Amino acid sequence: MTEADTATRLRTIACPACHTVTPVPAGTDARALSCPACGGPLFTGKPMTLTAESFTAHTSESDLPLVIDFWADWCGPCKTMAPVFEALAAEFEPHVRFAKVDTDKERELADYFRISSIPTLSFIANRHEVARAAGAMFAGDLRRWLYDALSRAGEAK
Ligand SMILES: [Zn+2]
Repeated sequence: MTEADTATRLRTIACPACHTVTPVPAGTDARALSCPACGGPLFTGKPMTLTAESFTAHTSESDLPLVIDFWADWCGPCKTMAPVFEALAAEFEPHVRFAKVDTDKERELADYFRISSIPTLSFIANRHEVARAAGAMFAGDLRRWLYDALSRAGEAK
């Protein structure tokens, strides 16, 4: 790859609201950008809700690493971890997209990932799951897990 290629390299990011995939120049701070399709921000500082319909846009079509929190409303440890997950979303954007999958509503996705207990976290980069963790984590452990997953994905900043 030449220097010119690097300078003009685009990465694709899927909108958290309408899931349109947008090319973004590699050096741009994507937190400042809006989605050209719906006008909403590309990053909100909060986890997005992922469904079977939006799954492909955020895994196969987006270049952004994705961390999914599989949860359900009746799960106490899931609720304990929710504010931690949300706080780290703001910290790790725009390098990682944070998403939540309600396993009661999205049984297809839960089955696809063979989720047997919740909360379970799955970190996806370059269309592959590079890390998985079951059970609630505190902020320090979750941050370390995310940095480890990022370095495995070759995306560490
Ligand atoms: Zn949009």
